[in-house]
Amino acid sequence: MKKLQNKVAVITGANSGIGLATAKLYLEQGAKVVLSGRRQEALDEVKKSLEGEFITVKADVSIAEDNKRLIEEATKAFGKIDILFLNAGIAPLSPTNEITEEHYDTVFNTNVKGPILATKEALPHINDGGTIVFTNSIVTQKGFDGLGIYSATKGALRAYQRVLTSEVKSRKIRVNSIAPGPIETPIYDKMNLPQDVVEEMGKGFAQQVPLARFGTAEEVAKSALFLASDDASYINGVELEVDGGLSQI
Ligand code: NAP
Repeated sequence: MKKLQNKVAVITGANSGIGLATAKLYLEQGAKVVLSGRRQEALDEVKKSLEGEFITVKADVSIAEDNKRLIEEATKAFGKIDILFLNAGIAPLSPTNEITEEHYDTVFNTNVKGPILATKEALPHINDGGTIVFTNSIVTQKGFDGLGIYSATKGALRAYQRVLTSEVKSRKIRVNSIAPGPIETPIYDKMNLPQDVVEEMGKGFAQQVPLARFGTAEEVAKSALFLASDDASYINGVELEVDGGLSQI
């Protein structure tokens, strides 16, 4: 029996990395999936690699109107929503003395405002008993130089999720999150750093992980499947670390 048979899932940041791996897994497990992303060409590209019932919607999570349209298009295509996976995020580096207002606004608008407004738009259309999954990060538990604003966004999101968990309890909607450690995805290439610096940073991260390696997007997707499925029917309000143990030592 497929774990998400006939469930409708909306995934943000689904044209790349963790979101794309999760979209593939959800489709394999029988879900109807709405993949949203910022770049049309990336959405067009992923369309070629997917099988099953899905649509793609170009939407920038940092724009309020785009979140509204995303949910409208999702419900127009598939009706009510069962799973909302708020995964889109960016992690640009900036040491504290170089942080600009623009850096702050861009990262907070994408990582905090985006998922909060998408949740607001989606809530009236989520079935009672549905589930919301967020992608947080272990950066709220450990300090990594240059990731001050990014870490603050994920901390803000975690605080918001506790309130949301309580606010939707009467509808039996479960709210959970995944906190990845270092995962091999294109996010590192989007940090505007030279390739050798990215590679050095990667080696440094991997050395700190008890399992001594980066995780894969597919490994995180399996956790996103678990939390969205009935296998996690009594799991609510948690943050699940998928980090090879990095945050625990
Ligand atoms: P990724 O491959 O870069 O995926 C990020 C996704 O978010 C992309 O689809 C990206 O679209 C989308 N996105 C970014 N800004 C957006 C916006 N304004 N509107 C709509 N979509 C937007 O990286 P990833 O590692 O899979 O990241 C997914 C999540 O995991 C993020 O929330 C990230 O913070 C979190 N995370 C990642 C790691 C890691 O080591 N990889 C660790 C901890 C947490 P574009 O490609 O068009 O930019």
